[in-house]
Amino acid sequence: MTLVRKGECKRCGQCCRAMFLAVLGDDVQVEWLRARGLTIHPSPDPDFYDSVEIPQVCANLHHYQPDGAICGLHDDGKPIACRDWPHIPADLETVRDCGFYFEEAPDA
Ligand code: SF4
Ligand code: SF4
Repeated sequence: MTLVRKGECKRCGQCCRAMFLAVLGDDVQVEWLRARGLTIHPSPDPDFYDSVEIPQVCANLHHYQPDGAICGLHDDGKPIACRDWPHIPADLETVRDCGFYFEEAPDA
């Protein structure tokens, strides 16, 4: 099944307030991350890694704009990882009411 991303950004800024990085290590690394106070999110999909949540607000995030949170980088300077977020449905479990959603692609 192929999923496609639909919708548009509502500029709520939630996805810019923490980083979710794949946990590539073993139980020793997970124990260490938890001991540092970080949260591990189990992947709902066995084909993807669990992720660690790092509560770091992006330095480029500007709030209190009339139309919502604003990225301080221009489109051509914004990281591809930001432009393409959410990448997978599991990303949406880290925010509430994102303007994007996923749909099954129509048959080719
Ligand atoms: S959580 Fe969704 S709607 Fe909010 S800023 Fe990120 S991409 Fe846009
Ligand atoms: S670079 Fe822009 S879009 Fe990416 S996390 Fe920072 S504020 Fe958000």
